[in-house]
Amino acid sequence: MALSGAALLLLATAALFLRYGAEAAASSKVCVVGSGIGGSSVAHFLKHYTCAKSAEVPCMDDIRILERSRRVGGRMATVTIGGDTFEAGASIIHPKNRHALGFARLLNLNTKTEDDSDYDPKSNVSSSSSWFGIWDGSRFVFQTLPPPSSSSSALYRKMYPLLNSLVIFWRYGISLIRMNRFVKEMVEKFLLYYTNLETRPVFETVEEMLKWSGLYGLTRRTLHEELVDAGMSSRLISELVTVITRINYGQDVSISGLAGTVSLAGSDSGLWSVDGGNWQLAAGLIGHTNATLHLHEEIDSISYTGGYYELNSTKGNSYTCEVTVIATPLDELNITFIPPVSVPSRRLQHTFTTFVRGLLNPKYFGLNSASEIPDLVGTLELPDIPFSCVSVLKKYNEEDMTYKMFSRAPLDDSLLDSIFSKRKETIRIDWAAYPHYEAPEVFAPIVLDGAHLYYINSFENAASTIETSAVAAENVARLIISRVSALSSDASIVMPPISAEEVLHTDL
Ligand SMILES: Cc1cc2nc3c(=O)[nH]c(=O)nc-3n(C[C@H](O)[C@H](O)[C@H](O)COP(=O)(O)OP(=O)(O)OC[C@H]3O[C@@H](n4cnc5c(N)ncnc54)[C@H](O)[C@@H]3O)c2cc1C
Repeated sequence: MALSGAALLLLATAALFLRYGAEAAASSKVCVVGSGIGGSSVAHFLKHYTCAKSAEVPCMDDIRILERSRRVGGRMATVTIGGDTFEAGASIIHPKNRHALGFARLLNLNTKTEDDSDYDPKSNVSSSSSWFGIWDGSRFVFQTLPPPSSSSSALYRKMYPLLNSLVIFWRYGISLIRMNRFVKEMVEKFLLYYTNLETRPVFETVEEMLKWSGLYGLTRRTLHEELVDAGMSSRLISELVTVITRINYGQDVSISGLAGTVSLAGSDSGLWSVDGGNWQLAAGLIGHTNATLHLHEEIDSISYTGGYYELNSTKGNSYTCEVTVIATPLDELNITFIPPVSVPSRRLQHTFTTFVRGLLNPKYFGLNSASEIPDLVGTLELPDIPFSCVSVLKKYNEEDMTYKMFSRAPLDDSLLDSIFSKRKETIRIDWAAYPHYEAPEVFAPIVLDGAHLYYINSFENAASTIETSAVAAENVARLIISRVSALSSDASIVMPPISAEEVLHTDL
């Protein structure tokens, strides 16, 4: 009997769980709490920088990853609705995100860009080739042109992206150019985190790391203040920029400047994702690193016992480790640290993601037909609007589509029944999504205890993305290497050979 792909996937996951889950009181060089992109990247970089033939430090390949969920990937996850699978968390990656690109290449993963993927809210805003509208709760204050129909002339089809750009430019004018320049300057500074290891310091604090690249200033003031100073119009800020920050971080333009600018970069062109799900980046890195993975193993206490950390799980297992890396936000967790560690309090922004297979109700939008509703509806920062955005993920036919919505509060059935005229299937996810950004940002330490307890997600107060987690993880890996081996991080960066990835994921 042939096994389906899903059954094989479950078997692979179960086999790993059995293989590793049964061990107890095991010891390792490095333990990592969390198997998202942060945890998987730190494992990758540790091995990559220390185990290459030319590396001048002892190989650190004895790495154990503890993950409370039954799947790897954390906030990179997929959901299946109506038989199709879509990104449920982190969905798009910027074309200049070099670590993510490098991982995809290393792991031989297929990637797709916005042009060949299904619609995604983040890849639509401000793009010249897509149809989006800005809703104020009673009308569309702005919308781009609907895509050409099958009866449109070839010339119109060709001209459509250009015409759409002109429509956006007509509304926002020179401010649009200023916004693009502002984002480009931020991206240029961020690119410094990929410069070579000889000239790039190892950072002990997030503040140091941001000051070195010139990005720290952006974390001190709100996005609104930064954009006003950069000469952007109030219309651009209250409409387009607000729509983008609401989609990407569920917050308005009072968000801190760096997170806000990163969010704006999330509507650049050339955005991409991994075919089949971005979670494969984490799964592939863990497989490639050959780290010992424990799924469904929640760590609830970490104590430092003279040179070693003891990690205890809710299952009663303990693990001793010379180095421990926390690769998850600590804000909503109940991990007991002995001795206690001090982390500034931080509120997480919850994003409720609702997937619906059905049809939007044109009456809710004051329209006659669902075909008049833009493929992406972004909303203004007004108290009575119950959602940040709704977008078509897939059109099966004019009466049957799959949509994704983001909101700050759960959307109950009666509300959904007013927004949708047909609803065949609904899936809701409550994400503890990212920090609630407030300027000036306060950063937790990277080294939590002055010894070997490290925290990757202190960087999330700068911005929360797949790439920023990978950049923070790379710095933590270098910091561990330099502190453990008391050598400056001049290890070789020859990439190890590509090995087959292990499949470790199931849908949410
Ligand atoms: C709805 C949404 C949309 C997003 N969109 C994008 C996007 O389009 N592009 C982008 O780049 N980023 C996006 N992001 C942000 C991105 O997902 C995150 O910044 C990134 O994935 C964080 O990775 P991480 O490894 O640091 O943390 P996580 O992915 O959260 O991983 C932490 C892991 O630790 C595990 N864990 C927690 N506590 C314990 C414990 N006690 N013991 C063991 N394991 C534990 C968790 O189960 C989890 O698997 C989005 C996020 C959300 C929620």
